[in-house]
Amino acid sequence: MLNLEGVHAYYGYIHALKGVSLKVEEGSIVTLLGANGAGKTTILKVISGVLKASSGSVTFLDHDISKLAPEKVVSEGIVQAPEGRQIFPELTVIENLQVGAYTRRDKKNIKSSYQIVFDYFPILKERQDQLAGTLSGGEQQMLAIGRALMAKPKVLLLDEPSLGLAPLIVKDIFKIIQEINAQGTTVFLVEQNANQALAISDYAYVLETGKITVEGKASEIKEDPKVLQAYLGGH
Ligand code: ATP
Repeated sequence: MLNLEGVHAYYGYIHALKGVSLKVEEGSIVTLLGANGAGKTTILKVISGVLKASSGSVTFLDHDISKLAPEKVVSEGIVQAPEGRQIFPELTVIENLQVGAYTRRDKKNIKSSYQIVFDYFPILKERQDQLAGTLSGGEQQMLAIGRALMAKPKVLLLDEPSLGLAPLIVKDIFKIIQEINAQGTTVFLVEQNANQALAISDYAYVLETGKITVEGKASEIKEDPKVLQAYLGGH
């Protein structure tokens, strides 16, 4: 569904991606693991059109999206939940969700999307008139995902949704990601929390200094000695 083939990307002279190839199959959850600075966020930037690849291809449903502006990529159906819970703190929960729907052309169906988001995250319904900045960390992460869902993604991109959250909340978030996927949304997940990410994923890639070094079914990656040592605490 979403394919990167031999992608190189630079920040000035910094060669951040050195020939990355990966595939996200329709209906799957794919996880990208990697240490700090490996280039995980850069891959998301290239997919969402914020950073252009210097060479290589990015295709979605068999057409080239590498030259599209970020808002066009969203209209195509590739939507990233705002990184680091970058919701708008001075707007209410419902206003944040409204922002997520801005690229939609089918304005009359937006109402049902609020309902879908509230079904996944009932707490957001309770807090719909509350300023987003006053939500807890977990609730802000839920709002970030909810806001992305308002754009009706075919592929949902998530950059470390578990970052800084308590283990119980992380469990909830991963469960909801699984539910969102079960309802038909493909998920591409960047995570440091390898154990839980692999537990819900079909396929996984490991990125090291701009190159994919390991890939395979999530169930196999969990047993890979190199991955075990580097990302799973050696267990
Ligand atoms: P983290 O988990 O810490 O976010 P990451 O795997 O997402 O790490 P990236 O943020 O993609 O890594 O960064 C990849 C490399 O590119 C790093 O060496 C980083 O220092 C560099 N880099 C990232 N953003 C910029 C930028 N705006 N300007 C220059 N260099 C950058």
